[in-house]
Amino acid sequence: MKRTFTIIIPILISALLMFIGCDTQKDAAKGPTFVTIGTGGVTGVYYPTGGAISRIVNKKFDQYQIKATVESTGGSVYNINAVISGDLQFGVAQSDRQYQAIHGEKEWKEKGPQKDLRSVFSIHPESITLIAASRSNIRSMKDLKDKRVNLGNPGSGQLGNSQDALQAFGIGEKDLNAEYVKAVEAPGLIQDEKLDAFFYTVGHPNGNIKEATSGRIKVTIIPIQGPELDNLIKKFPYYAKSVIPSALYPNATNNEDIASFGVKATFVTSVNVDEQIVYAITKEVFDNFEDFKQLHPAYQVLTKENMLQGLSAPLHPGALKYYKEAGLTEHIDPELM
Ligand code: GLU
Repeated sequence: MKRTFTIIIPILISALLMFIGCDTQKDAAKGPTFVTIGTGGVTGVYYPTGGAISRIVNKKFDQYQIKATVESTGGSVYNINAVISGDLQFGVAQSDRQYQAIHGEKEWKEKGPQKDLRSVFSIHPESITLIAASRSNIRSMKDLKDKRVNLGNPGSGQLGNSQDALQAFGIGEKDLNAEYVKAVEAPGLIQDEKLDAFFYTVGHPNGNIKEATSGRIKVTIIPIQGPELDNLIKKFPYYAKSVIPSALYPNATNNEDIASFGVKATFVTSVNVDEQIVYAITKEVFDNFEDFKQLHPAYQVLTKENMLQGLSAPLHPGALKYYKEAGLTEHIDPELM
């Protein structure tokens, strides 16, 4: 009898310890945890954003044993779905897409509300950017009729935004020669005269628009404005007016800043991702905020407070743990906590 106890009790104790879970030291003993961040096309801002976040957390590998890597993807909708399915642990996604996923709208209408989606923080502002070959004589939304226009690839954030914009201005997708290719291909297609215009929802400045404005074919960033836009913004809570500074693209033909509308880039994960990992990433980004801000010119406007706004999915407990420690919860919508 006594012998049975001496065998069983240590087994029970170790099983219990395994069950209770792991502290950081034990995690270190377990070896590295790999996490992948879904981004967008390599010429956008999501891709370097994934790079910036992973660089900051990988610096502390000895402490957290986290190795973050970045994947170029089709964009927001793809990232949200991949995070929910567990194919990716983190993703960058537009705030409007986060809202729609949580509420079961647009691409998620049939699947219903995506209850496992969690927000971590928001990042840079993005503008719905309409860029056209100057010779195509497109001066406003209305001129898009009968033109060859890229609306965005399925899986991107921008596809929904360009469709909303067209609808607001009373233009049907059939009224133009719509293309649905990835944003990374669009500047080349404009320069090869295979496309008149394209939509891209993106932070500024970015490599994509620089590429589009740097070739032989002159291009113009087209303003999106007027009562049609005012109505669109009234209709959807996640849109707001925005301005693209023309100085960021000296090779575009624009002489004035460009009016448009916009959303925010956000950082999302799943309820199933470990609290310690989300905590570590949140803490490293916020504790090294000034360094983080230097990693991309589109981050210039970031403050710790505005990185807690524009979110719709509940905060992941790992992120919330950090915000409580850092005394930042007063800036967070109580419904997300
Ligand atoms: N907003 C775009 C999307 O959701 C991506 C922009 C970027 O890569 O910077 O697909």
